[in-house]
Amino acid sequence: MAVTAVVAVISGIVGLCVGSFLNVVIHRVPRRESVVRPRSHCPRCDTQIDERDNIPVISWVALRGRCRTCRARIPVRYPLVEAATAGLFVAAAVRLGANWDLPAFCVFFASLLAVSVIDLDHFIIPNRIIYPTLVVLGPLLVLAAGLDGRWRPLLDAGIGGAAAFAALFMVHFISPRGMGFGDVRLAGVIGVMLGWLGLRYVPLGLFLAFFLASVVGVGLMVTRLRSRKDAVPFGPFMACGAVVAVLWGHPLLKLYLGSRA
Ligand SMILES: [Zn+2]
Repeated sequence: MAVTAVVAVISGIVGLCVGSFLNVVIHRVPRRESVVRPRSHCPRCDTQIDERDNIPVISWVALRGRCRTCRARIPVRYPLVEAATAGLFVAAAVRLGANWDLPAFCVFFASLLAVSVIDLDHFIIPNRIIYPTLVVLGPLLVLAAGLDGRWRPLLDAGIGGAAAFAALFMVHFISPRGMGFGDVRLAGVIGVMLGWLGLRYVPLGLFLAFFLASVVGVGLMVTRLRSRKDAVPFGPFMACGAVVAVLWGHPLLKLYLGSRA
C-alpha cells in the first residue's frame, strides 16, 4: 500500500511533465510540425517560453493564463491537459500498483488523451501518434512479460489487438463514412492493451465506446447541439471506453458475469 502510494505520487509528477509534452503534440502533430524543435513560443508575440514559465499547471496559474510578454490569453486547455494526464497516470498507478506494465499503461493513456483532443479538433487520428505509440508499447509489454515471467498476457495482447482491429474494420467496411480508418487503427492499439489485462476486457472496452457514443449522440440531438447529419468524432469515445475498461473493467465484468468473472 505504501509502495503504491509512492508509485502514484511519482506517476502524478511524471504525468504533469508528459502532459506538458502532449500539449506540444496536440498543437503541432496535426500541423505536421516537429514535436522536438523549435522550443515553445507564444503564438502571438513569438517570444520563446521561459523555463520558469513552462512548469505544468503552476505556471499557468501564476501567470493567470496570460503570456508574460504580450499578455495574450493562454487557453485553459493547456493546464487541463496537464492535470488530466497526471490524473490518468495516478489512476493507472492505483489500479495496477507497482507492476512492470504500469509504464505501458501510462504511455497508452497519454496517447489516448492526445488522440482524443486532436480528433475533437480536426476529425483525424494521426498515424504519427498511433505508430510511435505501438513502437513504444510493443517493447514495454515484452519487457513486462519477461520480467514477470508470464507470457500469456502478451499472447492475449496480440489476439486482442487483432480482434479489435478486425471488429472495427468490419464497421468501417460497412460504413466508411461513419468509421474512419484512423478509428480502426486506434481500436487495434486499444485491443492490445485491453487484451493484456484479459481477453474479456476487449469486447467490454468496445461496447463502452459504442454505448457512450450513443448516449452522447442522442443527448446532442435532443438538445439540438448537433443534428443527425453532423459528424461526431468516435476516437474520444473509444478512448473513454478503454480508460473505463482499464480502471473499472474488473468490477464491471463481475457485475455482468456474476461469479464467472
Ligand atoms: Zn506573447
